[in-house]
Amino acid sequence: MLRSLLTAVLCVSIGGLLVTAVKSDDISARAKKLHFSSIVVDTHDDTTQRFLDGNFDIGARHTDGSIDIPRMREGGLDAIFFSIWMSSKIMGPDAVSRALTQIEAVREQVRTHPKDLVLATTVAEVRAAHKEGKIAALMGVEGGHMINSDLDVLRKFAGRGVRYMTLTHSGNDEWADSSTDTPAHNGLTDFGKDVVREMNRLGVMVDISHVSDKTFYDALEVSKAPMIASHSSCRALCDAPRNMTDQMMKDLAAKGGVIQINYHVGFLSQEFRDAEKANPDINKAIGAEVQKRCGDNEGCQLIEGDRITREYVKQGKLPRVDFAKIIEHIDHAVKVAGVDHVGLGSDFDGANMPYGMEDATKLPKITNALLKKGYSEGDVKKILGENTLRVMADVERLSRELSRQSKK
Ligand SMILES: [Zn+2]
Repeated sequence: MLRSLLTAVLCVSIGGLLVTAVKSDDISARAKKLHFSSIVVDTHDDTTQRFLDGNFDIGARHTDGSIDIPRMREGGLDAIFFSIWMSSKIMGPDAVSRALTQIEAVREQVRTHPKDLVLATTVAEVRAAHKEGKIAALMGVEGGHMINSDLDVLRKFAGRGVRYMTLTHSGNDEWADSSTDTPAHNGLTDFGKDVVREMNRLGVMVDISHVSDKTFYDALEVSKAPMIASHSSCRALCDAPRNMTDQMMKDLAAKGGVIQINYHVGFLSQEFRDAEKANPDINKAIGAEVQKRCGDNEGCQLIEGDRITREYVKQGKLPRVDFAKIIEHIDHAVKVAGVDHVGLGSDFDGANMPYGMEDATKLPKITNALLKKGYSEGDVKKILGENTLRVMADVERLSRELSRQSKK
């Protein structure tokens, strides 16, 4: 999740000229074969917000948003991390109970669609789901504020199936600084370091998307397990504070971690960011229109924010960003961090998607583009999902070791 409505005002975006280019969707037979035999993992989707309004059926094909079962099937998306998200302004017991509500909402979707979805909490379960032809549903908590500074809450989340936690969202929490807030803790507090240690013990991946650079380095030092950046892109290509610098990507990789590239146009395209900055009135107008259409319904806000932004792009008021930008970021991250350290973290249903990557059906285009660029089939498989599964396996192994040690 990119933003609440308020930050949406700060962070809108997109691109989409009209039609035409879509014919370049042609996917080679080799790419299709590779894509649909690979395990494709997406580490960040905000569709959970849509589950909350009670009327959204993930089993039906929708014309808005990016994720539902038919479109995941069509795009060969095999494992999806549903984000448990709320604004970082919501804190205390309210944040805990809202997070538990969202966790149950994800579990309910799985219960309702047993032929298509299966809850997965381990790599073995993801692979088993793939073998059975089902989509693995996983969960990540996006923002440490939801544990209310209580390790028991973290344990409870892990017990209900959560397998990563982003240390902050867009505001600082009580124990870690965010990349988009004024530093208050100089990175991680002592308690924040305990949170990271407990995540290692529980087998919950440490996610450093959204955190400040100092928080990233503190977490990197404390975590015994490799970490992920579940939905971040490259700062060298687009100067957003929550994108990673080349040095951060190298340091993440040196400890076995993976950066999963975010498709949000405001994180992919410098031109888009510059246009947003130059036209603050457009952002304000989009924010006002979103509020008018959705009120406080977060699921609606996220979908409509993307739709309205596209209207501005069509009118030529914001630049069009093409999905090829995703490939540029993947390629840059591979060059800097190595092909074992890059994956996919779309931010579908929580951000503004580039032209040509409107929904999950478009995912084979990534495989096609990487093959065209000369990537080997083995390397493409790694980026599509195997790198993320490797980190999960490392985290599981360490968790078992640490749990054994603490019993001695
Ligand atoms: Zn986010």
